[in-house]
Amino acid sequence: MTDTPSAISRLLHHRSQGLSKGEAVSLPIHATSVFHLTGEPDGSHFYGRNGNPTVEGVEAEIGILEGADVVCFPSGMAAIASVFYSVLRPGDTVLVPSDGYYNVRNLLAAQFEPMGVTVRICPTADMAEADMTGCRLVLVESPSNPGLAVCDIAEVAQHAKAAGALVMADNTTATPLCQQPLDLGADFSVLSDTKAMAGHSDVLCGHVATRDAKLFDGVKTWRRLAGAIVGPFDAYLLHRGLETLEVRLDRMNANALAVSEAVQGHKAVLAVSYPGLGNDPFHQVARRQMSGFGPIVSFTLASQANADAFISACPLLSPATSFGGVHSSAERRARWGDAVPEGFVRFAAGIEPTADLVAAVTQALDALS
Ligand SMILES: *Cc1c(COP(=O)(O)O)cnc(C)c1O
Repeated sequence: MTDTPSAISRLLHHRSQGLSKGEAVSLPIHATSVFHLTGEPDGSHFYGRNGNPTVEGVEAEIGILEGADVVCFPSGMAAIASVFYSVLRPGDTVLVPSDGYYNVRNLLAAQFEPMGVTVRICPTADMAEADMTGCRLVLVESPSNPGLAVCDIAEVAQHAKAAGALVMADNTTATPLCQQPLDLGADFSVLSDTKAMAGHSDVLCGHVATRDAKLFDGVKTWRRLAGAIVGPFDAYLLHRGLETLEVRLDRMNANALAVSEAVQGHKAVLAVSYPGLGNDPFHQVARRQMSGFGPIVSFTLASQANADAFISACPLLSPATSFGGVHSSAERRARWGDAVPEGFVRFAAGIEPTADLVAAVTQALDALS
């Protein structure tokens, strides 16, 4: 044993350290909107929009993984929105990836451009060389969803700092167990916890982490004013998922690597992206800043028909959007209008035994030719 246990060990034992005799070992679900409040308010719980012990329990756990203060939200988009709303003002400029999660650009176009915020875009691969002059906020998403481009987060943060900009890193595809954007210089780490963090495809949630007290206060204040509160049942599901995050990720990462290696050599596959592959163009920079390469593998088949046939023929794949769940899933991303080839498949590894998954994927590809 090392002197300081790992973050995941501290997460697992966090609650039991504060317990008195007779208290529940598991995190209780405090299903209440109101709390017993006599006399004058004194900082205790009083109303669900301002705080709930179940939500605070899971925020403390994620805080251990991030090494930061954490605010939870009812979705990843609400978490990202809270940073935009608490930081951006009319006249500001924000730089976001052109190949990152599409809904972020939709949110900025619908709500922020009409208020006088300038939105600049840049491909993830070029983020470290982007012109950040005059930017208030820079968003990085590495590896990006769905293309799996990687940028050097420390280099982006250095340039942003020199330009006077804050950096928000969307760390959904990696999770804090595989990549620590705050250590690399980002001001905010944001995640859709809907994916691997909760991990069972049964809840939407998200969080913002920051080590800056003023930025934390801005995000938390926005949540309270806007009422973007995650409910105690959903917070419990996230807590429940976090307890097995490390073992699930180990298997998902191993499955993603094995599948990427298997599809790379297959004649039905035109191209593969996975930052864990030794010959991936982003492998070296990914290795420097990641300790695991995540559950998503992207690959391109010859046509829409081949992609659809592969997804429906593979018995261990659910045809579904999203990733990070226990069941492997896949989808053809062009159906959402992503700037990818018609036969582009985003494959999300689940936790099936690796040999089963590789065999199922290989057989479904074999059936194409
Ligand atoms: C899914 C996702 C989001 C949005 O999260 P929701 O929980 O669906 O709101 C944001 N960023 C990335 C990278 C995602 O994959």
